[in-house]
Amino acid sequence: MKLTPIRAIRKFCLWCCVGNAMEVRECTAVDCPIWCYRLRKRKVFPKPALTPMKAIKAKCLNCSGFERKEANNCPFFDCPLFGYRKGRRPGVGSETPQLSMGFSPRMGIPATINKEENTNG
Ligand code: SF4
Ligand code: SF4
Repeated sequence: MKLTPIRAIRKFCLWCCVGNAMEVRECTAVDCPIWCYRLRKRKVFPKPALTPMKAIKAKCLNCSGFERKEANNCPFFDCPLFGYRKGRRPGVGSETPQLSMGFSPRMGIPATINKEENTNG
């Protein structure tokens, strides 16, 4: 099954809450960029300012101390958000491998493939 941005967010939130879906539901961290999408709902009201992919990009920036280069060169390729960390789909205008729910770390090591990456996002 393809790891869409929404599914990636859900997976990440479950990881954040040690697999406890109730804790994800009751998460009060409304400042977290992916909060609106934590329940895997595509339609959220009121409409969020960021699309799921842009929310992931913001989350990764947050995770990387607001250093875009750090986020782009993130070495945690097993993180559910990894493929979308640049705010675009894996494989679209980038060399990042396509991820799936059965993502295997053997698919690639971003620290090496992103060396000459444009750091603007
Ligand atoms: S919205 Fe943010 S803080 Fe809340 S569970 Fe998800 S990742 Fe964790
Ligand atoms: S992909 Fe990297 S930068 Fe983004 S949330 Fe995961 S560990 Fe942090």
